[in-house]
Amino acid sequence: MQILANFINGEFLAPKGGRYLDNIEPASGKVYGQIPDSDEADLTLAIDAADKAFPAWSAMPLEQRADILTRISQRILERLEELAAAESKDNGKPLSLAKMVDIPRAASNFAFFAHACSQFSSEAHAMAGSAINYSLRQPLGIVGCISPWNLPLYLFTWKIAPALAAGNCVIAKPSEITPLTAYLLGEICNDAGLPPGVLSILHGRGADIGAALVSHPKIKGLSFTGGTATGKAIAQATAGQLKKVSLELGGKNPALVFADCDVDKTVDALVRASFANQGQICLCPSRLYIERPIYDRFKAAFVEKAVSLIPGDPAQVECKFGALVSQAHLNKVLGYIQLAKDEGGTLLCGGEQVQVPGRCAEGYFVKPTVFEGLDNSCRTNQEEIFGPVVTLQPFDTEEEALVMANDSQYGLASTLWTSDLARAHRLGEKLETGIVWVNCWLLRDLRTPFGGMKGSGLGREGGLEAMRFFTEVKNVCISFI
Ligand code: NAD
Repeated sequence: MQILANFINGEFLAPKGGRYLDNIEPASGKVYGQIPDSDEADLTLAIDAADKAFPAWSAMPLEQRADILTRISQRILERLEELAAAESKDNGKPLSLAKMVDIPRAASNFAFFAHACSQFSSEAHAMAGSAINYSLRQPLGIVGCISPWNLPLYLFTWKIAPALAAGNCVIAKPSEITPLTAYLLGEICNDAGLPPGVLSILHGRGADIGAALVSHPKIKGLSFTGGTATGKAIAQATAGQLKKVSLELGGKNPALVFADCDVDKTVDALVRASFANQGQICLCPSRLYIERPIYDRFKAAFVEKAVSLIPGDPAQVECKFGALVSQAHLNKVLGYIQLAKDEGGTLLCGGEQVQVPGRCAEGYFVKPTVFEGLDNSCRTNQEEIFGPVVTLQPFDTEEEALVMANDSQYGLASTLWTSDLARAHRLGEKLETGIVWVNCWLLRDLRTPFGGMKGSGLGREGGLEAMRFFTEVKNVCISFI
């Protein structure tokens, strides 16, 4: 039984209250560890440590700070195999995916922001003949970072790295469902020479330690990724304190497939995009709109490829499709599959839980599932399922596709599949999503603004957007007349 600890002031500490939560392996359904069920007493220790660490950390020469972040990135890569195995075990994702995507990206997050902090500059505004204004960008102080379970270390570090790079001290809370790689990050930070107290990692439930972190008056900024309902609760909890908040929330992402696309390539790309991480990536397309002349061809090829993704033990190197993250999430996804049937959808493949023989017999596996024949306004097409469930709908005109794509409370990412450049630009302007990918998906340049509109969030992460979020800007105006 693996017992995890909080990481506070460079030390691994048991929760003050002595309470723990079970950690379950999704592929086997078995408890394999325990994590601290932290409370305000643990938060107080972390805040005190951050308070002490802040003056030296925020004043450290940039090159030195960048060196530490670079070393964290290097240590992550040195421990790639171990971290990938931990991520796969904790989350149910294929080991191959954790090795190829999650862990390398966590390392890139630190490497990227190590460079970014030494390249970040502020503005000057000259008032001809009379004065010069310049802006100072200073760290906020102590900030909170809260992340979800679907891309555990990837998203945890995507917040922590820029917050540290900008000179803040950070108190971070990973999802209680996937705590393991966050725990290991504490070891890595010590090893890389991050001074004690600069980063604390507290484990526990969102409603307890998460809510306490959000509302603590010493937390000057909060970067959150998770569900839209939680994001709204956080916005309400922080409104009275007027603290800086960045919210990256849920999605229900449209894919617009035009008859002039390369159909074979598009099918390959969209099967991968829809079912990557068992459909548990906020960016996965789940509403697929296909121009009528290629609808039947696309459907046949898409379903054939989806069926070839066989759920299996994520620890096996050949596994391409693993387990859902928890029993509760499995129940939610199965509930939506039943709803799609009740709403009159035609099931084209999947639609059921599967038992993977051997050690995974009690795991949380669902086959890739595709429906057609559902109205755009039904709940299946409007609510975030966050699992391997996709709907197909035909369309006749570009305008009709655009209206259906934008008919959503969400606005995170859309994909557009066409060889018509003018159409790509036209729709790129009109789609109501924070990200529009044309003939690609999840192609990421870390300098670009990342985030959603409407119910998908407030604010942007990535590149200089993140450096701006984690700093307070001050204008200094000097008259010379
Ligand atoms: P969640 O909102 O339940 O939890 C996210 C995190 O918030 C967890 O660490 C949780 O413990 C914490 N939390 C829960 N309640 C809290 C509260 N009241 N105060 C403070 N913290 C609280 O989300 P989840 O189920 O872990 O993740 C899935 C969701 O995340 C999906 O909706 C998905 O679309 C979204 N997501 C969005 C992005 C993005 O970049 N927009 C990326 C990944 C996931």
